[in-house]
Amino acid sequence: MTADQAVRRDTGDAGLAARAAAVLPGGVNSNVRLAASRTFFERGSGPRLWDVDGNEYVDYLLGQGPAFLGHAHPQVNAAVTAAVSRGMVFGAQHALEVEAVEKLLAAIGWADMARLGVSGTEAVQAALRLARAATGRRRVIGFAGQYHGWLDTVLMAHGPDGPRPGSAGQPPEYLADWLITPFNDSVALERQFSAHPGEIAAVILEPMMCNSGAIAPQPGFLERLRELCTANGTVLIFDEVVTGFRLAFGGAAQRFGVTPDLAIYGKALAGGWPVAAIAGRRELLEQFGTGRVNHSGTFNASVMAAAAVSSTMDVLRQAPPYASVEEHGGALIDGLRELGHRHGVPLNVHGLPAAFHVSFRRDGAAETTVVDHATLQSLDLDRYARFSRTLARHGIWVAGRGIWYCSAAHGQAELADTLERFDRAIAADAA
Ligand code: PLP
Repeated sequence: MTADQAVRRDTGDAGLAARAAAVLPGGVNSNVRLAASRTFFERGSGPRLWDVDGNEYVDYLLGQGPAFLGHAHPQVNAAVTAAVSRGMVFGAQHALEVEAVEKLLAAIGWADMARLGVSGTEAVQAALRLARAATGRRRVIGFAGQYHGWLDTVLMAHGPDGPRPGSAGQPPEYLADWLITPFNDSVALERQFSAHPGEIAAVILEPMMCNSGAIAPQPGFLERLRELCTANGTVLIFDEVVTGFRLAFGGAAQRFGVTPDLAIYGKALAGGWPVAAIAGRRELLEQFGTGRVNHSGTFNASVMAAAAVSSTMDVLRQAPPYASVEEHGGALIDGLRELGHRHGVPLNVHGLPAAFHVSFRRDGAAETTVVDHATLQSLDLDRYARFSRTLARHGIWVAGRGIWYCSAAHGQAELADTLERFDRAIAADAA
């Protein structure tokens, strides 16, 4: 069925919302989902989702990024199912984990070694620990508005007065070693290095910001960052949890032509299955191998994880989706902008075709060039968060924070459906 409001079913999800609210705090299993409308999905296939009422959606959230190949990719699911039928965790080595990491390293290109883990959050912890162990230093430079997981050592809220703990119960001293600076500002970055000579263990960043806006690095920014890290003996960590395998097979490092010392992958790495990885230069990763630095995990490189990574790498190598993602995302960005003009709505779309951000300019504000967290705040993000619920009612599933991800499975039919539904959603919003 189509998502036309006239035929949209809303039977109340058979009481699931009430049952969820009774047993799950906030009715959800991740706080990121607190902000979304309480929609219960029954299934996903390729670029589309169906809720328990039978309504169908074109999906641009992709489970917050992992479903880059589309939902329920048959080749990946078949590989995982076949592999786990022979067992799932051995507490020892198996051939698939070696094969998976060999393929992962071949995709990344620049890294010598990698370890598999379960979540991006924990892989970030491993990277920071490696950097501190290698340098004997504590301080870390990060960028306002970026996200590196929900743990005490990295979770921050970024206000005009600088960073503060992002959660009640989070000891502020856990963030004492952080120096936060604006993305895309090489001068501010240079100032941090000059103010703390010989103290900075690592710089960690989303090389393209996707947790606040969808902000690509400006020409020269990553290059200057690389130079500063090399000159100061600082470990450069790319958090490619979002950008990895999405912006290019070799992630942001390939797309922007700058090589870090360590990188973290997750989300698109495993076709929707829960796997993360830390990869990098041999002398850094070897610290795990000698036992000097601890990195452990019962479920690391489970059979499921290794099969999912191995088959996802095969799919991405055999049928690279990058040209079609560029084409679909580019046409979608153009189409959304056009609809904004046609309806006289101050829509602001920025980013790259594989990951872009949709929001509204404030009344009377001129076109905004979004380069960092501060410039992003000039947009009316709350208006878009409300509009995202209208989009859901019209069969477009997106994050309330404005990010849109395109998958390998989106094609002409999704483009046409999305633009038609967006058109009706804007009209409904104005009515
Ligand atoms: N790093 C970045 C850039 C992310 O976007 C996320 C999650 O959204 C993480 C780290 C944490 O990954 P996970 O949710 O798998 O723990």
